[in-house]
Amino acid sequence: MNFEAFIKNRPFVIAGPCAVESREQILTTARAVKNAGAQALRGGAFKPRTSPHSFQGLGEEGLKLLAQARAETGLPIVTEVLDTRDVLLVAEYADIIQIGSRSTQNFPLLKEVAKTNRPVILKRGMAMTVEEWLSAADYILESGHDKIILCERGIRTFETATRHTLDLNVVPLLKEKTKFSVIVDPSHGTGRASLVAPMAKAALACGADGLLIEVHPDPHQALSDGPQSLDFSAFEKLMGEIQNI
Ligand code: PEP
Ligand code: MN
Repeated sequence: MNFEAFIKNRPFVIAGPCAVESREQILTTARAVKNAGAQALRGGAFKPRTSPHSFQGLGEEGLKLLAQARAETGLPIVTEVLDTRDVLLVAEYADIIQIGSRSTQNFPLLKEVAKTNRPVILKRGMAMTVEEWLSAADYILESGHDKIILCERGIRTFETATRHTLDLNVVPLLKEKTKFSVIVDPSHGTGRASLVAPMAKAALACGADGLLIEVHPDPHQALSDGPQSLDFSAFEKLMGEIQNI
């Protein structure tokens, strides 16, 4: 993919289910988000779950399903890598590699991903300061790789009414301090589907270059992050609403 062209097309919206669950689920979602105007399809094949008893993702099978969805829709694929041992495999399929919140300070992983030269979405760790986040980005830059998108996805605070506290302060702050594209993930940032659209709009209003949104054909049946996932009609409505921000 042409990274420079991708990030120039602002705001860019990366959407899809938290986890790839089946062929039917990822293909219907890919078609729906493409029709609604998304620029990339995101789905997890390797999922970092808090409990080892939760669904861990389909692994390589999930990557293959993402590749089918790309072949059908033309959407570039964004997917997470968790383990240094899977970096080459994930890089074979992904157009953009996601480093998740729990991995942003996994320095060996950052160095391995940098070697692939695939663009990277570097999520903010849920307890990371901006300085620590930018130092994590430095690990990638040090390897001569600068195709980095920073993604604010909410931080841990004393507040428990929402899953995380979406820190929109960092959007204009990072725009002042860095040259990176900055996107916002209001799905993990709020943990509630009803709050996703208002916070997505707020993110764009304060200068975010793009959004990362979780979308599922039937959020109640989702194997992960259903409560924060938009269904197709809610996503389509949001895409209409952000046109003029
Ligand atoms: C995800 O993107 O589904 C995910 C696990 O996000 P985060 O790393 O921000 O928790
Ligand atoms: Mn998720």
